[in-house]
Amino acid sequence: MGYEDKVRKVIPYTPGEQPRGEVIKLNTNECPYPPSPKVMAAVRGLDERDLRKYPDPLCSGLNSAIAEYYGLEEDQVFTGVGSDDVLSMCFLTFFNGHDPILFPDITYSFYDVWASVYGIPYKCIPLREDFSLDSSEYRKVKNGGIVLANPNAPTGIAEDLSIIEEIIEANPDSMVIVDEAYIDFGGETALPLLKKYENLIIVRTMSKSRALAGIRAGYAFGNKKAIKYLNDVKFSVNSYTMNTAALAAAKAAIEDDGYFREITEKVIRSREQLKTGLKDLGFTFGDSKANFVFARHEGVLDGETAADFAKRIFEGLKERNIFVRYFSRKVINEYLRISVGTEEEMRILIDTLKELI
Ligand code: PMP
Repeated sequence: MGYEDKVRKVIPYTPGEQPRGEVIKLNTNECPYPPSPKVMAAVRGLDERDLRKYPDPLCSGLNSAIAEYYGLEEDQVFTGVGSDDVLSMCFLTFFNGHDPILFPDITYSFYDVWASVYGIPYKCIPLREDFSLDSSEYRKVKNGGIVLANPNAPTGIAEDLSIIEEIIEANPDSMVIVDEAYIDFGGETALPLLKKYENLIIVRTMSKSRALAGIRAGYAFGNKKAIKYLNDVKFSVNSYTMNTAALAAAKAAIEDDGYFREITEKVIRSREQLKTGLKDLGFTFGDSKANFVFARHEGVLDGETAADFAKRIFEGLKERNIFVRYFSRKVINEYLRISVGTEEEMRILIDTLKELI
């Protein structure tokens, strides 16, 4: 009745909670360290006269800094408001065929949401029991495109580049989007494959390894023609995606390689410390190469299942102001996804888990 039947009704993605105040926040894979001091300097140095004007719609300064950093040409780079925006534009641009697009059944839970909102048919391919990717499944299904997170989320499992390449090679008529949100913490980037394959787009973010989740900056690499297609779609939706402050902040972040290396190394050290602590408490998990660990425990109380345990611990931690991620969906409801924090935060987490278990 009324306008209701003309509404585009969707089931939206649910982002992790953003509690304020003094909490230990290990639920959205943010960086526990602040961004490079050069980022703040760039933001403080903004000229107010520039805020009066629209930002550069081509994001040239940022794109050329990214291109230089990765040894690419400026027109092989596309930037957006976090990698969510970049991925969403990629779905809209490259997944306009009739066959279903493919992605794993356990992966970033935004993929099926974008497919739904854009009316893209999709098929989820089951991961193996150990959460590894069965590439043969992506070689035999006629598809409208493929999207893979490597390392995958929420599992943290990284696939060898040879597996990713097999999939790209077997699907010359489909665009393969490799979401490398967590690649800086381990895993092998598909970047060298760009020279070899036309049907590859790599998506990155500054939210994790460059500590800029609040700025919203993401980017993609591809061949010039593919990037042109992406820009054509972007300029058909919103020309000014990145704002002036975000452009300046993101450029400063990419230019400070020393700081980037320092914080990613610290996160990797903390991750390994977290793995040791969790293992000692009886948790099991795959070999995460991301800035989080996806951990399962058999449970300890009488009759307690792994899923009961995960929920009980999630709630117990929350009462103590420690936020981790719990997913209610079957299979993954047996796991807690714990973002890697500082060494001190990891110590507090492990001590609290000891009390709760
Ligand atoms: N891809 C994956 C696999 C993610 O986990 C996330 C973080 N939620 C994103 C993309 C999006 O990150 P952002 O929009 O902050 O760049």
